[in-house]
Amino acid sequence: MESMVIRQIITKFAAAKVYIMSVILDLKQNFTQPLTAEYSITDDMLASVENTLVKGGQLTASVTAQQAPEGLRLTIHTAGKAVVECDRCLDDMEVDIDTTNSLSVQTADRFEDADDIIYVEKSQKELDLWPMVYDFIVLALPVTHVHPEGQCNKEMAEKLSQYIV
Ligand SMILES: [Zn+2]
Repeated sequence: MESMVIRQIITKFAAAKVYIMSVILDLKQNFTQPLTAEYSITDDMLASVENTLVKGGQLTASVTAQQAPEGLRLTIHTAGKAVVECDRCLDDMEVDIDTTNSLSVQTADRFEDADDIIYVEKSQKELDLWPMVYDFIVLALPVTHVHPEGQCNKEMAEKLSQYIV
C-alpha cells in the first residue's frame, strides 16, 4: 500500500509549555487508489488540549483516504489508551479506545448540513485532521470510568464519599 503524505507539525512554545500540533493531509494527492498513513497521538498532543476529560494517553490513528463520487472519503481508525480521571477517586486511570469513524471531504460549493462532512475550498491544499481525531477519541470514552473494585485511591475515595449524600 502506498504511503500518504502526512506531515506532523509540532510547535513548542517553551515558555508556556504548550504544544500545538496538527496532522496535515495533503489534499492535492491522487486518491484514485486508497492511501493509508498511520500516526502517533502522543501524551503531549492530548495534554495540550485544555478543559477536556482526556488528560493524556498514547494512541495510533490510521487514516485511509480514497476518492469517492461525492468527495474524498476518509476512514480513521483510532486505538490505544487514553488517560482520564476516575469518577470515584479522581486519580488518573487508563481506558481503552478503539474507534473507527468516517468522514467525507467535499468542496464548499456543494454545501449540505451534515456532521460527517468537512467542507474545504477548492483551492485548499491541506486539511488538519487533528481536531477531528481528537473528537473521535473523546466520543469513544465510556460514559462512566472508574477503577476496578478495590483499586481506587482508598484515602481519596473515603474523603469523597463523605460529600456524597
Ligand atoms: Zn478510582
